[in-house]
Amino acid sequence: MKLMFVGPPGAGKGTQAVRIAARYGIPHISTGDMLREEIKNGTELGKQAKTYIDAGELVPDEVIIGMVKERIARPDAANGFILDGFPRTKQQAEALGAIAALDAVININVPDSKLIHRICGRRVCSSCGATYHESMLEDQKHCPKCGGALYIRDDDREDTVKQRLAVYKEKTQPLIEYYTNIGILHDVVGSGGIDDITETIVEVLEKK
Ligand code: ADP
Ligand code: ADP
Ligand code: ZN
Repeated sequence: MKLMFVGPPGAGKGTQAVRIAARYGIPHISTGDMLREEIKNGTELGKQAKTYIDAGELVPDEVIIGMVKERIARPDAANGFILDGFPRTKQQAEALGAIAALDAVININVPDSKLIHRICGRRVCSSCGATYHESMLEDQKHCPKCGGALYIRDDDREDTVKQRLAVYKEKTQPLIEYYTNIGILHDVVGSGGIDDITETIVEVLEKK
């Protein structure tokens, strides 16, 4: 099953993709996570990408497309994958279309008013990569799963978040129409409980 999750920053794409990936035994491919890994490792690609990420802008298409092509060619993605945060532009969608046919695109809808609160409260584990909201955590400093140190992403500051939302509307939102026209887009309400949303996504995938 080849899936893609689309939605504004903070919609819960990563949260849901981790669960759906575990349920179907397919890899979760997050371009944001891949870029943060490159930054952490101090690679040339990471250094290039950081300037764009910190400004709330998109990393250039050719950099991202090359990275994703290499990733989905690996053996673990042979039976399917979940793309999270890619494609984000029409050019990326067309490049993807040339190498793989998606079975479904899940569009996670959350009102803007909730997104800022979600993103500003996001905490990520530096050790296992798990994502939380500060309101879920008893201990604000350590990951409940592995004990690793939690951190706040550099781009999860309110001013950068507003820029990311504007970039989403301008560059990524048009993909909703693009995938609707192909006939594979499914809308999911993303403002309820995390478990309920996972079940809704599973229902959509089983029905299609
Ligand atoms: P995205 O990958 O779309 O940017 P995340 O999955 O990282 O979004 O979620 C953003 C923030 O919102 C995180 O702090 C996460 O814990 C929280 N979150 C995710 N889903 C929900 C939900 N259904 N209800 C409340 N908070 C949520
Ligand atoms: P979120 O889950 O909050 O939407 P991501 O982790 O997916 O954020 O992405 C963080 C940043 O990484 C983006 O703001 C952008 O700068 C860069 N990025 C991630 N994926 C892409 C992509 N497909 N194309 C261009 N830039 C990307
Ligand atoms: Zn952890």
